[in-house]
Amino acid sequence: LPEQEAFDIEYWLLEEAKLQRMPKPKSLAGQVALVTGGAGGIGAATAERYLAEGACVLLADISLDSLAATYENLTSRYGADVVRTILMDVTDEAEVAAAYAYAAVEFGGVDILVSNAGIASSAPVEDTTLALWNKNMDILSTGYFLVSREAFKIMRVQNMGGSIVFVASKNGLAASPNASAYCTAKASEIHLARCLALEGAEVGIRVNVVNPDAVLRGSKIWEGEWLDQRADTYGTDKEGLEEMYRNRSLLKRSVLPEDIAEAAYFFASDKSAKSTGNIINVDAGNVQAFTR
Ligand code: NAD
Repeated sequence: LPEQEAFDIEYWLLEEAKLQRMPKPKSLAGQVALVTGGAGGIGAATAERYLAEGACVLLADISLDSLAATYENLTSRYGADVVRTILMDVTDEAEVAAAYAYAAVEFGGVDILVSNAGIASSAPVEDTTLALWNKNMDILSTGYFLVSREAFKIMRVQNMGGSIVFVASKNGLAASPNASAYCTAKASEIHLARCLALEGAEVGIRVNVVNPDAVLRGSKIWEGEWLDQRADTYGTDKEGLEEMYRNRSLLKRSVLPEDIAEAAYFFASDKSAKSTGNIINVDAGNVQAFTR
């Protein structure tokens, strides 16, 4: 290269390197997110993704121990000013309303709701008691309705729009054996999101869905009865199970909590400003693998 051109390239590279080192503007700065099930695997990973983008988060969960551990972990990296926790059962109207009031007092409102609190508890249909059926419906279906209803109320008063992200499940689209209660409840979450997307559009409230496939790492769902109930079919070795899901996926990759958090970040942020009533399956291609 002639001397002058070589110099220009060097100069350009230096300028580029400087730009890379400059702090990037945070895309959720000034936003407040309420994350239900925020002390669990996917909820905590999502809260962390939002904190990294400058949001304040309120973690709402029924597990005091998990809340304390998640709080300690997140505040050690992002500081105590931007994280709050509250004990809240998504099936309890008064507790749900109190969580929104707490967010208003502490952070000035709620701009993003991540409805994620959940369980996995199911059985073959003939063994599905009414109590088991109702438990799934209460926490997954009714719980998602209650937290969304309060989100609509506060977002409408704030008059600045908002984003609601449902963490549903691949099982809301595709049936899974011996899990009719769970699958039906998850399907209702997806349809609720579509209905709310219609209602929210006129006031700028977007409602979208992230459907995970099996996320074994970090998830407490895979430590309890869900795993025990499947022991006959799959065994109880978590690593072996993860491998099984990885091998049968189209992309041959494991789905991690951070992968769900990334999709939940996309739907929370302006990057998805023109999406509502939509679904992202974070499933390593599993939905396609089963429907081919
Ligand atoms: P997790 O058990 O690690 O987290 C769920 C959290 O929800 C827990 O902290 C739990 O205490 C909380 N919770 C349960 N019932 C509650 C209630 N009534 N009120 C408030 N909080 C409550 O599980 P996860 O894997 O992080 O699951 C998060 C969501 O993702 C759930 O809705 C689940 O159905 C969905 N999902 C998970 C998987 C997976 O394989 N992990 C796959 C598909 C969908």
